[in-house]
Amino acid sequence: MAFNVADYKTSVHNNWCPGCGDFGILNAIQMSLMDMQLDPERVTVFSGVGCSSKTPHYINTYGVHTLHGRVLPFATGGKLANPEMTVLAVGGDGDGLGIGAGHFVATGRLNLDITYIMFNNGVYGLTKGQASPTLHLGQQTKSLPNPNIIHEINPLILALSSGYTFIARGYAYDVAQLKALIRQGIEHPGLSFIDILQPCPTYNNINTRDWFGGADRKGEDGKAMPRVYKLDPNLYDPLISAETTDEEIHQKIAAFFAKATEWGDQIPSGVLLQNLTQSTYEERVIESLPKYKKNPPAKRQIESDNKPVLKINTILDELRVA
Ligand code: SF4
Repeated sequence: MAFNVADYKTSVHNNWCPGCGDFGILNAIQMSLMDMQLDPERVTVFSGVGCSSKTPHYINTYGVHTLHGRVLPFATGGKLANPEMTVLAVGGDGDGLGIGAGHFVATGRLNLDITYIMFNNGVYGLTKGQASPTLHLGQQTKSLPNPNIIHEINPLILALSSGYTFIARGYAYDVAQLKALIRQGIEHPGLSFIDILQPCPTYNNINTRDWFGGADRKGEDGKAMPRVYKLDPNLYDPLISAETTDEEIHQKIAAFFAKATEWGDQIPSGVLLQNLTQSTYEERVIESLPKYKKNPPAKRQIESDNKPVLKINTILDELRVA
């Protein structure tokens, strides 16, 4: 059976504000799942709390809307319980880099085979537009009484230093590129992070669609000069493989830092890093627990005729990693 994009949509009423960048991201996720022909019953989307964390309600797969900042531990548990499941974690920059920052780092250390999609708009939209961890120092969006006096986090650099092995940046209004990035992130054998610039037209009146599109600055031809540009694959190679030499790795990391810190007039998008040299957490678990691969928790029979046939302690004892 072939799946079409309608198979990934639900009839749940969507209450995002008109013009919100979240819509483009939602479309891109649904289109990438369709492109990959992933059975909706083999996909789970986890979220934390925030506007973007409503996403699982709008995607016709399994969905788990969890607690503020806790999307990654839940997604980790879901993937380890059923390694055959495609697991997406979604949420905002406030959710993932504020209260969830510890989990962001801890999950990076695992290199689990899941994809974390961050809707990055610089504000806490659901709670009326307070400054989030990615709002730049000195910026004053319309719901702030004074300019922001706290330094911003660079999510791309935090992802690299935490151990994420696929790091990309997309833009909510470039759905074609975003669809391809999400697919690449899902296909990457390890932990993927996709930072998506997502205008919030209701509360962030600085990093708007017009600003990203360069409407405030015109070239000699009178046309807008967009700030967001795509990395040129002929000039930028993000891949680190077993064949990459140490010297090349140093050069690639330096190039990554140069692109990850580029902001203002020029904002790069695309895959910034893909490292294929690291084992995944699942592979390391299987090394310690050979039975886990054949018989992960999701495949265990836990009841028969409405009666429990397996004690949770038995499963936990079997999964204890020395
Ligand atoms: Fe989107 Fe901002 Fe509205 Fe939230 S508050 S739905 S992020 S436009």
